[in-house]
Amino acid sequence: MKKVDIIVIGGGLSGASIALGLVREGAGKVVMFDEQLPTQRLSRGNFGLTWFMPKGANSPVYARWSRMATMLWPEFAAKLEEESGYDIELEWNGGAMHAIGDEQFQAYADSIDTLTKTCSEEGLDYPVRMLDREEFASMIPGMKLGDDVTGAMYSAEQGHVNPLPLLGALRCAFQKKGGEYFGGLSVSKIVPNDDGTVTVLTSQGDYQCDKLVVAAGHGSTRLLADLGEKLHIYPQRGQLIVTERVKKVLHFPILAVRQTMDGTFMIGLSTEDSAYDPKVTVEAMKSQASGAIKLFPELANLNWVRGWGAIRVMTKDGSPIYERLPGHKNIYVIAGHSAVTLAPVKEKHIASWILEKDEAPQISHFSNGRFNV
Ligand SMILES: Cc1cc2nc3c(=O)[nH]c(=O)nc-3n(C[C@H](O)[C@H](O)[C@H](O)COP(=O)(O)OP(=O)(O)OC[C@H]3O[C@@H](n4cnc5c(N)ncnc54)[C@H](O)[C@@H]3O)c2cc1C
Repeated sequence: MKKVDIIVIGGGLSGASIALGLVREGAGKVVMFDEQLPTQRLSRGNFGLTWFMPKGANSPVYARWSRMATMLWPEFAAKLEEESGYDIELEWNGGAMHAIGDEQFQAYADSIDTLTKTCSEEGLDYPVRMLDREEFASMIPGMKLGDDVTGAMYSAEQGHVNPLPLLGALRCAFQKKGGEYFGGLSVSKIVPNDDGTVTVLTSQGDYQCDKLVVAAGHGSTRLLADLGEKLHIYPQRGQLIVTERVKKVLHFPILAVRQTMDGTFMIGLSTEDSAYDPKVTVEAMKSQASGAIKLFPELANLNWVRGWGAIRVMTKDGSPIYERLPGHKNIYVIAGHSAVTLAPVKEKHIASWILEKDEAPQISHFSNGRFNV
């Protein structure tokens, strides 16, 4: 049996962000296991937004947590790039959500009022404002807005990254700081011991650790069920479309359309109940395409070269789950959506919470137990 201080199960964006935070905090011998099934492409196949607007419309705590994450992003990215040597292609020029028609424009304006109050209660700002059509158009001189666009909700303090190098950078920095990453290793069982340590059975032998972090996305459900814990997540498919490369003209992302550093447009905002099937469907592709063309009609002239689906780890209220397992004080469960956006708070606050150094006040609101009603 190999002995380590901390095991992180799951090397996706959640596990890798936390694992990096743990080694930066000097947590001892930390290992990260990932089984790397080809179907588990969520952390590589997402849209790459680092975004807080208008997250948490029904959950003030999540609104504040998302805002905290974006406040940390620029510094987080700079340090990560320095440590890993990767360029994660962060573009921090703001982000917008376009409105179609007057009703949607007004609904967005109302949500700004609500969320501004919510964030100010915690001493946080909420730097979001409405742009009328003219101002929105003036910020995108290289593209023409569709006739039905009435304006947009906009914040200068968010952006987007390339998810692939982001994941690579997190794993690389983790290893450079002394962590060990085991790709292609599958965990089959978690066995809590009477002395508080945990044994983890894997495809490459058994390990014992003082603390265990379960951040295995949809893979966590089965591992926790063996311990009698029902994890309250469900699968939700999202699909994305990519165009050919063209001159870079869009310098900040819009919720469903962004242009990458190399010039491709990425399009996507579908949400479907799909069990665990990541395939693409003609219906979702058509509906996303028509939404994007309503925003920027000229996108219809581009060749659309690729599409894919990935399965979100969703909770009923949209907020994440951070739980110290009842009855197993050294087993931590991390699950939920928006792991690009939330990477800095996981690296900083969740890692610190696991090490029992500091507990951000928000964490208790994100228990798995909140769904046990
Ligand atoms: C279309 C789409 C667009 C998105 N856009 C955004 C966005 O713009 N911004 C944003 O913040 N978020 C976005 N997301 C969400 C984001 O992609 C996810 O929140 C994130 O990838 C989840 O990461 P994770 O590490 O929690 O889970 P995963 O990426 O699923 O990682 C879990 C890992 O655990 C491993 N694993 C599972 N079981 C085991 C086992 N038994 N043993 C060992 N390893 C195991 C798997 O191999 C996997 O790598 C989007 C998602 C989709 C689908």
